[in-house]
Amino acid sequence: MPPAQMSMYETANYYFDRAAEWMGLEREMRILLKAPHREIRVEIPIRMDDGRLESFVGYRVQHNGVRGPQKGGIRYHPEVDLNEVRALAELMTWKTALVNIPFGGAKGGVTCDPSKMSKWELERLTRRFTSKISLILGPYRDIPAPDMNTNAQVMAWMMDEYGRKQGHSPAVVTGKPVELGGSKGREAATGRGVSMVCAQAAAAAGIELKGARVVVQGFGNVGSFAARFLHEAGCKVIALSDQFGGVHDPAGLDVPEALAHVLLHKKLDGLPGAKPISNDDMLLLECDILVPAAVGGVINSSNAETLRCRLIVEAANAPTSARADAILERREIPLVPDILANAGGVIVSYFEWTQNLTQFFWEEDKVNEELHKILMKAYQEVAALSRTRKVGMRQAAYVVALDRVAAATRLRGV
Ligand code: NAD
Repeated sequence: MPPAQMSMYETANYYFDRAAEWMGLEREMRILLKAPHREIRVEIPIRMDDGRLESFVGYRVQHNGVRGPQKGGIRYHPEVDLNEVRALAELMTWKTALVNIPFGGAKGGVTCDPSKMSKWELERLTRRFTSKISLILGPYRDIPAPDMNTNAQVMAWMMDEYGRKQGHSPAVVTGKPVELGGSKGREAATGRGVSMVCAQAAAAAGIELKGARVVVQGFGNVGSFAARFLHEAGCKVIALSDQFGGVHDPAGLDVPEALAHVLLHKKLDGLPGAKPISNDDMLLLECDILVPAAVGGVINSSNAETLRCRLIVEAANAPTSARADAILERREIPLVPDILANAGGVIVSYFEWTQNLTQFFWEEDKVNEELHKILMKAYQEVAALSRTRKVGMRQAAYVVALDRVAAATRLRGV
């Protein structure tokens, strides 16, 4: 049983070691694949609206670029630190390999609280951060994308700032506004992919999707689109939450109404006809599908024994601690791991990048169709390995991913 307390990075390494051991990966390959290739920490001084100077700390970690340019989001959050960014960068390497798109893995972040900053302060922060890390960015080097508290606007500023020195380079970031070369379907892609994976995993677990009771924690980009698509598929979304708390209705929430409410009030709190529920308690609701779509580590040793769901689909990155993962396996609660469940975003980022490089743009139907093909292929591969070799979906996903990065590394050499 893994220790109850592990950092996100220790957890990522625990999964790596477990998969490497199981597949008999040689010692040299473990050395080559585990450590991040490059890490930078930058100081970002900016002028706040009131004239004060504030300095923030930002990071970019490039974990592995053997299969292609490094790819991964930028997170703005008060708890961002190097260890977390490292873990998330490593997850990106396995995610891009698992879905077999030609990228490596990276991640970035700035320790800040964007809810306390104006739009102009965020723009200055983004531009300064981009300028400080631009040396290692590039359409064939490292391509950022949105993550928690960053969005298409932040990507537009990054593209603009990078382009000031390098010339117009839309392929340097993905998740841009469609008007600036973003891909149709990118904004919804991660949540759409989550809903596609839910449908497959529910069928495998004997859960009828129509009428399935679903709990979604986090109502940002990923959670809100996942909830919307699951609602459209006939699921009964019984609880939703954001950072301020959750709302619950055993009869099923009206997701479009929740979206309209959040647009107006900026939070779910006060949604008419719904009862308030805390973020901790909502995880313990009896339901068919639990979808953590917010922060990491929310399913841990304190609640894994008492969860009352039949299936977990990890829309967030690293929402489950290693100890909880082992408990869920013992309890035989199936789980679709983050590197598979939330890969829809990076898959459509790949489509955006190719559209930028070719300057030929796709209709949304084509984007969604190709997304479905790639994601389902990866899902089937993982499910088959999990079934035939009797390992959990996470272990199976890691094995497929590690195998692919190891094969590319052997061919390229040290
Ligand atoms: P977001 O900033 O758009 O939304 C985050 C949501 O989580 C918001 O509703 C926020 O209120 C809520 N939240 C924040 N702290 C919380 C807490 N402590 N408890 C409960 N809710 C909380 O972010 P996002 O882009 O939707 O990302 C969510 C997760 O999905 C992250 O783990 C991210 O790494 C992962 N992810 C995102 C993408 C993407 O394309 N955006 C792709 C893959 C994975």
